Amino acid sequence: MLVDRFNRTVNYLRISVTDRCDFRCVYCMAEEMTFLPRDQVLSLEETYRIAKAFVALGVKKIRITGGEPLVRKNVLWLLEKVAALPGLNELVITTNGSQLSKVAPALKQIGVKRINVSLDSLHPLKFKSLTRTGDLQTVIDGIDAACEQNFQKIKLNAVILKGRNEDEIVNLVEFARHREIDISFIEEMPLGAIKEHDRALSLMTSEEIRQHLSAHYELTSLEDNTGGPSRYYALANSTTRVGFISPHSNNFCSTCNRVRLTAEGRLLLCLGNEHSVDLRALVRDPSVSDEALEEAIRESMNIKPERHEFDLNEEPQIVRFMNMTGG
Ligand code: SAM
Ligand code: SF4
Repeated sequence: MLVDRFNRTVNYLRISVTDRCDFRCVYCMAEEMTFLPRDQVLSLEETYRIAKAFVALGVKKIRITGGEPLVRKNVLWLLEKVAALPGLNELVITTNGSQLSKVAPALKQIGVKRINVSLDSLHPLKFKSLTRTGDLQTVIDGIDAACEQNFQKIKLNAVILKGRNEDEIVNLVEFARHREIDISFIEEMPLGAIKEHDRALSLMTSEEIRQHLSAHYELTSLEDNTGGPSRYYALANSTTRVGFISPHSNNFCSTCNRVRLTAEGRLLLCLGNEHSVDLRALVRDPSVSDEALEEAIRESMNIKPERHEFDLNEEPQIVRFMNMTGG
């Protein structure tokens, strides 16, 4: 019975391999961040063991994220091992693009199928102010290096904030259209406490962005339901698809097929709730066999919540930042 529930509920695991990052995006991290002590972060071997258990239970798709996954030392070792797990259909990665110039060919060779790259601005100074430490040209070079490798799909992710980058929506779509890649706009989620902007005031909803784009493009809704929070539109005369990820305007939990493993080994059953299971304790306990680990994962599905609520008028209820969770 639990197996049935597991397979119906979850076929997609997202793994954060680090909470650290070479950027400090204003919506993702506080300026002064304290990162986890190294011994609290899962080793790559521990992460691999958990990934293997999930694939044994029927998970078909794994996304490696962070923090910035490509700054984790030896992450290519993990990617190669996970890509080779029998039964896994898709290994994908979410990155800020800062290391892609160097590693895009290796990622392709390992068998990574798709890459998501975050890009919120095409103005060097604004990019710097949004990411605090990022360099726009390095990221653009990384995206172009990835485009040369012919991955199955490359998608840009942009968080639009009123008063900061709302004037860049069309430029970002044009950037994607010229490269024949996709782009998704993500509504900012209230994860972690930030000082720099008022989230209720800066929130640009998917509907507002879609309306803005409709004045420039013919958008046709696609039926493609990824089992996730995205809704996609085709752009006329282009292969580029425009997605909207709307945690505020859509409570997407009823169709959610994903769970997240944090860098410290917590299995989070929902991005908007604190329900979790400590898998690190299990993989560090020598008496826990692979079978017992799988059983614990199956049982965790019983506490997967039905829905989340984000309320911008309240203090953030989720105290962890997105770099902890893995976006
Ligand atoms: N460092 C990588 C990157 O930036 O793509 C991977 C991790 S990052 C946490 C994953 C995604 O989460 C990024 O697309 C980022 O824009 C998004 N993100 C971070 N904080 C967010 C927030 N508060 N609301 C919505 N999206 C957020
Ligand atoms: Fe780093 Fe990604 Fe968070 Fe930006 S969104 S600070 S790149 S983890």
